[in-house]
Amino acid sequence: MNAVTPATPELTAAERDRILAKTALFNPPPITTADGRRELVGLSREELAAEMVAMGEKPFRAKQLWHWIYHQGVTDFAAMSSIAGPMRAALAERFVVGRPQATEVQTSSDETRKWLFRWRDGQEVETVYIPDRHADRGAVCISTQVGCTLSCRFCHTGTQKLVRNLGAAEIVGQFMAARDSYAEWPSPKDDQPRLLSTIVVMGMGEPLYNYENTAKALRIIMDGEGIGLSRRRITLSTSGVVPMMDRCGEELGVNLAVSLHAVTDELRNEIVPLNRKYPIRELLDACRRYPGASNARRITFEYVMLRGVNDSEAEARELVRLLAGLPAKINLIPFNPWPGSPYQTSTHEQTARFAAILNDAGYSSPIRRPRGRDILAACGQLKTESERERKAAG
Ligand code: SF4
Repeated sequence: MNAVTPATPELTAAERDRILAKTALFNPPPITTADGRRELVGLSREELAAEMVAMGEKPFRAKQLWHWIYHQGVTDFAAMSSIAGPMRAALAERFVVGRPQATEVQTSSDETRKWLFRWRDGQEVETVYIPDRHADRGAVCISTQVGCTLSCRFCHTGTQKLVRNLGAAEIVGQFMAARDSYAEWPSPKDDQPRLLSTIVVMGMGEPLYNYENTAKALRIIMDGEGIGLSRRRITLSTSGVVPMMDRCGEELGVNLAVSLHAVTDELRNEIVPLNRKYPIRELLDACRRYPGASNARRITFEYVMLRGVNDSEAEARELVRLLAGLPAKINLIPFNPWPGSPYQTSTHEQTARFAAILNDAGYSSPIRRPRGRDILAACGQLKTESERERKAAG
């Protein structure tokens, strides 16, 4: 049964503080280069202004820098032409504007692109660009942790132990490096077309177990004078860290996606073990409270279709019952098998029957097209394979 049931606001707050304190233990140190220069990507506006003051400059210089870093996408201080030469030299002595190193890039025949990005301490995560079928826009799926603590059974990343959280620089840096790859600088205005048009925080890791860094990164990405992606274009996906969901909605106001995958606690305890702490009822209560959820901004429920496990018509009907009254949309995801995975993908016919029940009940329930099947497409698989190859070579 459920071990932690935050029944009152005080208990919820205490549980939230406990999660924040525990997850902070996995934070990376501030990023500096081998010669001691500090990374500017990932600093808040206030932190950037404080750095300017510390070097004897006026705080407004931070605004100029912000524009060059996040609007123009410039990484070389020498190219920041609105800043006088001596100051550019002084900045280059103290700071860097970095990007992760792409140690692998794979592009699928369907144009899905996957990067394995490496940070200065050698840790790696995956980032994926999934173009829309019209190919004039698409989603960047970013990671928030190296590995994951949650061991969801259908997920390859869940087989990798948590190494550490990503810092804000590393979370924003994935999106900036993806933009470099598609030459999408300077930042288009929010109403202009762009290839990298949305972000899904759905890659490696549980973002609500790295809330502070994720929130800082998303604030930077949403800043209208920089990258300028609005909160409506960002979806954060959680396995259901209930005590953090309210805060995420209140402070960030981004779209919410929930990895549901089962309609009974018994099965969800097995597929998404976090359910033992925060069972379905509590999770759905938190969804009902989620600020900003409406028919115009529905909560997305992710449901991976596992043959003979969670894909019966009775389960589809139970899902309809559970979601009653929630502004919801359900993404049905064909399972992406990986070596050693314990599940098989549901048949197309069964997935269609499941979807029909949800559709008849009024829920939009698209069946996701499998993407990037010809590359190492399961989340976390590229990292594992590249480590294996490196060990074999070394
Ligand atoms: S689905 Fe997400 S939360 Fe679950 S193990 Fe995979 S990365 Fe972690």
